[in-house]
Amino acid sequence: MDLKSLIREIPDYPKPGILFRDITTLLRDRDGLRYTIDFFTEKCDEAGFQADYVIGMESRGFIFGAPLAYKLGAGFIPVRKKGKLPAAVHSIEYELEYGTDCLEMHQDALHPGSRVLIVDDLIATGGTAGATAKLVQQLECELLGFGFIIELRDLQGRKNLPDLPIISLIEY
Ligand code: AMP
Repeated sequence: MDLKSLIREIPDYPKPGILFRDITTLLRDRDGLRYTIDFFTEKCDEAGFQADYVIGMESRGFIFGAPLAYKLGAGFIPVRKKGKLPAAVHSIEYELEYGTDCLEMHQDALHPGSRVLIVDDLIATGGTAGATAKLVQQLECELLGFGFIIELRDLQGRKNLPDLPIISLIEY
């Protein structure tokens, strides 16, 4: 299936110069959605990922991470922006183009030795996934790798990730 044809491009959103890859048009397509999750699952199986948990980053990482976890027989753990999770959290700050941002995960979500796969809709600079990887590794978990629907190759986000298997379904 031509997944690229289901992803809408919005120029200059959220700011001038950014070409936004809008996955809502893929999500609303019933065949496209099913194919994406099935294909993602297949790629994870091929990579040999035997995850205990899929970690998805707010908010589009939730949309793809939770059904992938279901298909892999894993649990799902949300990583959220600062102040959104109700129980005690581990936090990590990371650099943005201007300033910093903060991601949080429940302290009791992972235990040492958990096998973890990090999932988001898209990797651009790799800042978000890289910060999540640090959070997981600080907790002495076994990070298996990363999965993205879309990878923007020009931005070389892989350089900001540890040297582990990376799955991406679509590349630009
Ligand atoms: P980064 O931390 O730079 O890898 O950015 C990844 C996050 O920003 C992902 O959660 C994406 O949803 C979002 N993002 C970055 N660039 C784009 C883009 N061109 N189109 C859609 N989403 C983007």
